[in-house]
Amino acid sequence: MLGPVTTGRPTTARSHRRPRSRAIRVLLALVAAAAVLGVAVVAVPMLRPAGPRPLFQMPVTCGETWQLSTYPGHDDYDVDFFPTEGETWGRPVLASYAGTVTVAGINGSLGGRNPENPDGPRGRGGGYWVKIDHGGKWETQYLHMLEPPLVTVGQKVAQGDQIGRLGSTGNSGAPHLHYEQRRGWEKVETHFDGTPSGITTDEREQILRRVSNNCPAVP
Ligand SMILES: [Zn+2]
Repeated sequence: MLGPVTTGRPTTARSHRRPRSRAIRVLLALVAAAAVLGVAVVAVPMLRPAGPRPLFQMPVTCGETWQLSTYPGHDDYDVDFFPTEGETWGRPVLASYAGTVTVAGINGSLGGRNPENPDGPRGRGGGYWVKIDHGGKWETQYLHMLEPPLVTVGQKVAQGDQIGRLGSTGNSGAPHLHYEQRRGWEKVETHFDGTPSGITTDEREQILRRVSNNCPAVP
């Protein structure tokens, strides 16, 4: 008696369900394919080796002597630039090499240090900063600038173009330029004009002097 009553139902239900589950399987396959493609698009460039080191120049005016320094707790390879002569505040910050601006904004918080109030409240992080992509996985970073950067994201810059003015925004004790060179996601020893800076550790204080060869190209 129960047999005839119940036979039709599951069949009907199944016949309705089958196309739907097939559609879901197709959808899942598409999602999986998209995920694999997405991972490939992200991972393949990551695995590609970096290009040759660009001929970086010091991020300051051609011919000037600057102090390059680091201190315990800074971070390996990070370099702080201080001029050896003249006013520090507002000095031009220059692109070390040609590239495309990928960051131009505020890192952390600005704080309140400026030429009128050099001991104002200290900010956090890098303050006004710029990051430039030089291609081949090479990047440079410029921190603690006085005012909003003079460049915008996506802008192409040439070596020696002014990108900002030296300041003390963010977590900065005194006006200076904090500078880094990166290969991929790694910070590396800074090189200028084809020569390593020698600043490779923050285990001890180091103070060097170098002359900038970030000079305009001779036409
Ligand atoms: Zn620094």
